Amino acid sequence: MTDALTPAEFAAAGHEVIDWIARYLREIDQYPVLSRVTPGEVRSHLPSSPPAAPATWSEIFSDFEQHVLPGMTHWNHPGFFAYFAITGSAPGILAELLTAALNVNAMLWKTSPAATELEQLALDWLRQLVGLSPGWFGITTDTASISSMLALAAARERRPDLEIRQRGMAGRTDVPTMRVYCSEHAHSSIDKAAIALGLGADNVVHIRSDAEYRMRADALSDAIAADRARGMLPLAVVATVGTTSTTSIDPVPAIAEVCRQHDVWLHVDGAYAGVAAMVPELRPIMAGVDQADSLVMNPHKWLFTPVDCSALYTRHPHILKRAFALVPDYLVTSVGDEAVDFMNYGVQLGHRFRALKLWAVMRAFGSDALASVLRQHCALAAKFATWVEAQPHWQVVAPVPLSVVCFRYAPPNASPEAADSLNMAILDRVNCTGRVYLSHTKLGGRAILRLAIGNARTDESHVAEAWRLLLDAASQVSVARQ
Ligand code: PLP
Repeated sequence: MTDALTPAEFAAAGHEVIDWIARYLREIDQYPVLSRVTPGEVRSHLPSSPPAAPATWSEIFSDFEQHVLPGMTHWNHPGFFAYFAITGSAPGILAELLTAALNVNAMLWKTSPAATELEQLALDWLRQLVGLSPGWFGITTDTASISSMLALAAARERRPDLEIRQRGMAGRTDVPTMRVYCSEHAHSSIDKAAIALGLGADNVVHIRSDAEYRMRADALSDAIAADRARGMLPLAVVATVGTTSTTSIDPVPAIAEVCRQHDVWLHVDGAYAGVAAMVPELRPIMAGVDQADSLVMNPHKWLFTPVDCSALYTRHPHILKRAFALVPDYLVTSVGDEAVDFMNYGVQLGHRFRALKLWAVMRAFGSDALASVLRQHCALAAKFATWVEAQPHWQVVAPVPLSVVCFRYAPPNASPEAADSLNMAILDRVNCTGRVYLSHTKLGGRAILRLAIGNARTDESHVAEAWRLLLDAASQVSVARQ
């Protein structure tokens, strides 16, 4: 059986696809950011059973354009301001194509030496760019959620005397209740990791934060001491550099000191913001991180690398390896210990060649340009915040340390509950225009609008358009409710 396309067909289709991508990226502004399809609509246009007969590439591509594309929300759109905005940059896209062509599985060094070594190199470059000291081991995963779960598994394996790896935890009276601490604003992936590892969601302690949504190190210390007094085992603390709602930066140096005093593993979740430390004036966001035991940063969030690419670092690779190394007979190789076999540092056997796109992005931009785009995003966010502050009845409701602004429309005659509904109605109207896409969060129980700048193609015109649409929507919802 040969491939479905001949080499000549592949080359012709490939040129067309690249031309299409180039046009898409150039004209992406013309697509509605948020897809307008209703649930089930995309499927309804496509056959429900698989085809017996082959289709030509042009038939497949025509279905893609007609039926798939309308169902896309365009995360690569410069008007995408929801969640954390991201960029599939041109070098990242080309490298991803090469990764698919090579189609390697870097589970073992031997199964693709260059994939393993390029990953180690690219992650070391990233480490240097954010100003961390040497001595960190890096590995990519698909998401920060998996990276944090692996870090917490390593934190647990730091206590081999408990024999969790071998004997598990169920039904054992000799294993203390293990606790994980993070701020009340930490990402839900930490709770999920505790669920997946069998620690239990109830054993994730959400520590109070201060008025700027940063974890309180004194409250953390008290919580750990109280748990110890109850015979529990404080396993790990997760500090966040760039929380999901407000991009607050937990006081890592003080948290690291608490961890040192109590001998607890410190994991830092810098999924979104960690990379910003490559901007010289933002370098202080990484203060104290060198004292942590593990760290996650997601180049697929704010470093122009197409999804998926999460970078997990640890200063104790031997512990991560102790948690997960398992080599069945059919995977034994004669390569010595100097080669890293990625399958031994996590759950998955298979390992995608993600490093190529990260390496290509760092090379194609260069560190000065990367830093300058991140700096520009922060400047745009600061400018947007001044527009909001200057407008009667609008408030910026959290500090803006990076590229995300949390804000709210609060007309004087509206109760907090009524203002919640107004804000959600404004959000709906703005997102329905198809020009921009913003998301929301809750702070202090109140509905908050969120503008996240993170796409490399976003410039001031897109941010200004978002503001214009927000003001229009506010006047419409106010009139509609009078
Ligand atoms: N950590 C933080 C701070 C996040 O904001 C997010 C997602 O936005 C995550 C972790 C989870 O990221 P992922 O989708 O890569 O699992």
